[in-house]
Amino acid sequence: MMKLFNKIKKKKESLLRYQYLRTGPENGWTMSSDLYAKCPKCGYYMSLDPTQSDMCPCGNLIKDIDYGRFGARTGDKTIEIYQKKE
Ligand SMILES: [Zn+2]
Repeated sequence: MMKLFNKIKKKKESLLRYQYLRTGPENGWTMSSDLYAKCPKCGYYMSLDPTQSDMCPCGNLIKDIDYGRFGARTGDKTIEIYQKKE
């Protein structure tokens, strides 16, 4: 019961900070520091800041600036894009 409560609380917090935009790429990915991609496996929110490479804790979502690549092992269509609220 406690575990379930924690999960709901965590989800609520993330919904307050990020607004859902779409799932998957829209004519390619828009790289911007106020946009975030959510890993469908571990729920990590990755900034789409075009100047920094990043990888989520489970290794599914990868952003490699040096090679200009961004994507997920589970596929581009599994990536949810969010916009950070002010
Ligand atoms: Zn992940």
